[in-house]
Amino acid sequence: MLLRYTQRIPRVLRVPQRWSRRSYRALAIESSCDDSCVALLETSDDSLITVLDHCKSTLSSSDVGGIIPTEAHAFHQFRLANLVQEFLAKNEIDSTNPPDVIFCTRGPGLVGSLAAGLQLAKGLSIAWGKPLLGVHHMLGHIMMAVHDSNSLEFPFLSLLASGGHTMLVLLRSAIDHEIIIDTMDVAVGVSLDKCGRELGIKGNMIAKELDLFVQNLSPEEKSSFDKWDISKRRNNPFGFQLQLPLKRPDLPLVPDNIQFAFAGFQSSLQHIRKVKGETLEDDNNPDKRFIAYRLQELVLDHIIDRINVSFKKHGTNTEAYATCDSKFSEIKDLVVSGGVAANSRLREKLNSELKSEKFIGHELNIHLPDIALCTDNAVMIGIAGIEFLNASKLVNNLSILPIPKWPLNDILNVDGYTPSTLK
Ligand code: ZN
Repeated sequence: MLLRYTQRIPRVLRVPQRWSRRSYRALAIESSCDDSCVALLETSDDSLITVLDHCKSTLSSSDVGGIIPTEAHAFHQFRLANLVQEFLAKNEIDSTNPPDVIFCTRGPGLVGSLAAGLQLAKGLSIAWGKPLLGVHHMLGHIMMAVHDSNSLEFPFLSLLASGGHTMLVLLRSAIDHEIIIDTMDVAVGVSLDKCGRELGIKGNMIAKELDLFVQNLSPEEKSSFDKWDISKRRNNPFGFQLQLPLKRPDLPLVPDNIQFAFAGFQSSLQHIRKVKGETLEDDNNPDKRFIAYRLQELVLDHIIDRINVSFKKHGTNTEAYATCDSKFSEIKDLVVSGGVAANSRLREKLNSELKSEKFIGHELNIHLPDIALCTDNAVMIGIAGIEFLNASKLVNNLSILPIPKWPLNDILNVDGYTPSTLK
C-alpha cells in the first residue's frame, strides 16, 4: 500500500460513519482555473478517507497581472497529461491496477480549463472501464474545510469566498444546498484583485499580496488611520470616500433577497487611481497605505454585515426581527472556504464580529481550514466526489460537458447523471 503525501494536506481524514460506507480508491483531477492537480484517495469501511498522494502544477501569471483564460487552457493542455502520467507511474496505477472511480471538476470555472481536465478524465474512464463523476468545484472547497474540522455534522452554514464566488450556503447534506446570500455582481476575490491592482499592488495573487501589505502596517499606523471618517472625501486628508454597500436609508435593513455587492469598490478605486496616478506605485505613499487598509477593512466588513443580516432574518429572536423564520435554529457551525478564507483579517472579523448569539441564541463554531487547504487542489475534488457519490449513488455518462457557471443549489439539476454500480 502506498502511503505518501506532499505539502500540508493531512493523509488521514476522519469522516463521520454515516457519510462513508463504501471502500474504494479514487483518482481526482482538478483543472478549473490555473492549477493542474491530481490526487489519489482511498475510502474504507472504517470511515476514513486516506489521501494516498497528490500533486499540483500552477501557471505563473504574475508578469501579466492576472489569469488569462486562453493561457490557462493552453497550460492545462501542455501540463496536465504529463503531470497525470508521472503521477500514475509513481503510484503504480495502470490498467492492471486501476482506481475504482475517476472524479474530475466539471464546474464552475473557466470553460477551456475545465474541458482539458474533463477530456483527460473521460479518456482514463474509457481506458480503465471505470466510472466518471464530474464534481462541483465549490463543494470541493466546502468538503475540504469540513474534513479539516472535528465533530461537524449537517446542517451547517458555509461561507465560500474566492475569486469565483462569494456566497453563504446552508448545507443539509452533501447533495442538498440552499444559497442564502449570493453576490449581485462580482466575487470578493475579483474585487480585491482589481482594487489591489489600482493601488499598484503586484504579484500572482493580488488579493493575497494586498492582505500582506496591510498586515505589514504597524498597529500604530492602523489606529491612526481608523480615526478618519471616509463617508465623505472632505472628511479625511487622503481624499478617500467609501461606504458599506447596500446600507442606504432608502433600502430595507432586512431585504427579501440578501446579496453581496463588490463592484462598487472597484469603481471607487478606479476614481482614486485617476486622481492619484503613479504615486500609488510607491509603497511608502501614505495615500496608498491608508486606502489599502480602509478598503480591505470595508470589503470584509461588508461580508460580515450581510451575514449578520441573514442571522437576523433566519434566526430565532423575534424581538430583534419580528418575522424571523428560525431557518438557522439548528445551525451550530459555520465553515469558511475558498481562497479568500486565507485572508488573515477576515478570520479575525469572523471570530469577533458575527452576531449569531444575539439572533440565533447561541454562538456558532467557526471552522477556518488550514490556509494551505484554501487554494485549489485535487484532494478537495476527491473528498467532495466521495461525499457526493455516497449520498447520491450517481456517476456521469461520457457525454457530460463542462459547466462554467453552476449554482451550488443546482448540483443535481444538470444532465448526464446515471446510477452508480460501484460496489
Ligand atoms: Zn477554487
